[in-house]
Order: sequence, then structure tokens, then C-alpha cells
Amino acid sequence: MLKKSFSLILIIAVMLTSLCFSVSSESILAGDVNSDGSVNSDDARTILRMAVGLDEITPETKIIANTDGEDGITSGDARIALRMAVGLEELKYINADDTDESYFEVHFIDVGQADCSLIICDDSAMLIDGGNVADSSLVVSYLLSENITELDYVICTHAHEDHVGGLNGPLNKFTVTNEIIAPATGADSKCYQDFLDAVQKQGKTVFVPDAGYTFSLGSSTVEILGPITEDHEDINDTSVVSKITYGETSFLFTGDAEREAEADILEAGYDISADVLKVGHHGSENSSTYPFLREVMPEYAVISVGANNSYSHPTEEVLSRLTQCGATVLRTDILGHIIVKSDGENIEFETEKNNGSEILPDAESTTKPTEAETTEPEATEPESETSAPSHYIGNSNPSSMKFHLPDCSSLPKEENRVYFATRDAAIANGYSPCKRCDP
Ligand SMILES: [Zn+2]
Ligand SMILES: [Zn+2]
Repeated sequence: MLKKSFSLILIIAVMLTSLCFSVSSESILAGDVNSDGSVNSDDARTILRMAVGLDEITPETKIIANTDGEDGITSGDARIALRMAVGLEELKYINADDTDESYFEVHFIDVGQADCSLIICDDSAMLIDGGNVADSSLVVSYLLSENITELDYVICTHAHEDHVGGLNGPLNKFTVTNEIIAPATGADSKCYQDFLDAVQKQGKTVFVPDAGYTFSLGSSTVEILGPITEDHEDINDTSVVSKITYGETSFLFTGDAEREAEADILEAGYDISADVLKVGHHGSENSSTYPFLREVMPEYAVISVGANNSYSHPTEEVLSRLTQCGATVLRTDILGHIIVKSDGENIEFETEKNNGSEILPDAESTTKPTEAETTEPEATEPESETSAPSHYIGNSNPSSMKFHLPDCSSLPKEENRVYFATRDAAIANGYSPCKRCDP
């Protein structure tokens, strides 16, 4: 893709050299540049066609936000071409197609007795831990299968092998565009040294955030809540603890933080409530203390753990504590990879094995209760008994024109929605099926 679009740019560049004088920004771009300096992808296609008469840029040519291997011209390349065409300094960015189709997923990658979570939000991705050294290539292929081409952030929660070991592969394969976060406390181990070397190869040094440090991942927000202090003997208590909020839904990742680190965070007074908790230290009885769980009150508790591991994780004590606080437990040793999707209000699970059926008693997906629910039930039709959905939702935004299943995680904004009774009706009206929900 990179090669293809780069050669396209070269063609455009050559063709444009002669055009620069005859094509003024006024003649082509009047009215097409938005007040924020952006150009809609539709307009960009038209401008490119007008500027260079290039047959390859058809109304169907995608202007895509990143180099994810799809056929099209990347928005970065289109910007360069447009700037060369018209010398327009104020051209800041091209609005990618489907910009209103936000989505959020957490993949708890099954790395056995270890931790590895991939968070994807809109066009951004973050990896929290990478499993053991032996998991390195599995994690790389998992990321590739998710069309990840670069990582925005990487968090190494702490220096134990089952967290830092497998980061080597991804760090050597994917550019990290922002920070690589880790606690100040390192280790003498070879795998930790390899991690530092890989960070250095990225031209970076490890970034040690203070608790309270916040950054954006797509349209989600990541807040670092720990460690409050690294003044603990146990390296597990140096774990970087992070909370990710997407809309009304939240996810807490605690690495291997144990009771002392949990107590520090409680004392610091952070809001640690979360819908989904990545359970600390694989379900060790020294983590997930009652006072901590009482503040988190997770609806779902995900335990990353190896089958028949020698530590007897997760312990009966922790499983019982989680049940007592009302959490549904999901374990990678039983379910394989666990994928959580959020639309900002509802949380859904997909699991690699067992369909989550034994673990999620009622259904695979659950709607987070809202305050309005008890007083004012929504006037939607009851869920269809048959497999055909009751309706399809189209995105009338001209740059999208996709249609979705009603439960798709990428539904358009309210004002852009159009409804179709059948799939055929959507297609007849010029809408194409969403790639995510595949209606
Ligand atoms: Zn550990
Ligand atoms: Zn661990």
C-alpha cells in the first residue's frame, strides 16, 4: 500500500509541476475548504480529479486515514498531492471516510499464564503488555490480523517476563507513534534489557508517567492511576495501572498490582469504578482485595491465566470475592482470546472458544443498565426471534453510504441515520454493507 500510494504521489507530483501556475487555490478550492482548514474526502477526490485528470482517482477511490492495506490513496498522500496542486498552506487535513463511525475494542489476547491486551479505538491502537518472550510472534501475528500497522502507545505494566517478555516482537515490528510507558523500576533480566533495546531502536526512552497523567487514544481517554509510589519491595506493586473511558463505559487494567499498590490507589482517591476489570496478577489472592473491588465494582472481570498453571491462579478466594461483588468472570484459559466491544453505552463480548456460553449466563452481550431504564422503557420493538434483523440502519453521510445491523458497534450519528426494512432496500438506495457487522 505504501509503495502503491507513494508511486501514485510521484505520478501526481510530476503531473502537477506544470499545473501549479494555471491552477489557483481560488479556482479549485473556493468553497471546498471547511472553516477548520479541512477538506471533506468527497471534495478532495473532486479536486484531485480536476487538478490532474487522473483516471485512477474515481468517485470510488477511498481516501483512507491510515495505511491499512486497502486500495486507495492515504489521506496523508492526498494532502501532499493537494498542497502541490494548489500550494494551499491552510490545507490541514482531509476528513477520512466514516469519521462519525467511532468504535472501541479491547482484545484480551490469550497468552496463557501472562497478560496482553490490545486496545483499538477509532484509528488508534495501544498494547498493554505482551505476554511471555515465547508469545512475541503470536502477538505480532494477532496485531497484523487486526490490520494494525503502527501502535500509538505501548504500556509495559511492570518488568516481569510474563508482561514485558512478549513486547519485543511488536516493538521491533511496529512503530510506536507516541509514548512507550513503563514504571521506573526495571529488572536485570535479559528480557527487560531486550525491551529497553527495542525502545531505544524506536528512538525513544521509556516514559514514566505520574499518577493522574491522561492522554487520548482515538476518542477514548486513558488515565494513569498508578503506581502512586514505586517504593515497594514487590515488583508487582510497581505495575502501571490505567483506566480507559469510552463514552459511558470504562475499563481498568491493573497489571500485577497487589494489595499494597491497591491500597495506595484507594488512598489517593481516584475514581477507579469500571465496567470491565482486568483482574490483578492473574487472580492471585494477594490482589483484588475487598476494599479495592468495592470501589471498582466491575460488571465483568477478565482473568488472563494459563490452564492448569503451577500458581493455582485464579484462586478460589479471588473468584469468590469477584462473585460477591456481582462480577461476571471471564477467563482466557477457558475462553481463549476475549474481545470486548463498546459503543459507548453497551458492552459486548466475543470469545475465541466456548462462545462465552458457560460464562455469560443470559446472553453473549449485555446492555449496561441506564438510569432511565426503570422509569421509561424504550419504545423499540421486542428483539426478533428469527435471525433476520428487524431493520437496517444506513449512514446518509455522502462520504459513508454504508448500512449496518442495529447492533453494529459503528452506527452513524443520530442525524445521519436512515432506516431500511430489508437489506435489498438498503442496497437499492445505493448503500453498501458495513465491513464490521457484515449485514
Ligand atoms: Zn508480575
Ligand atoms: Zn503477571
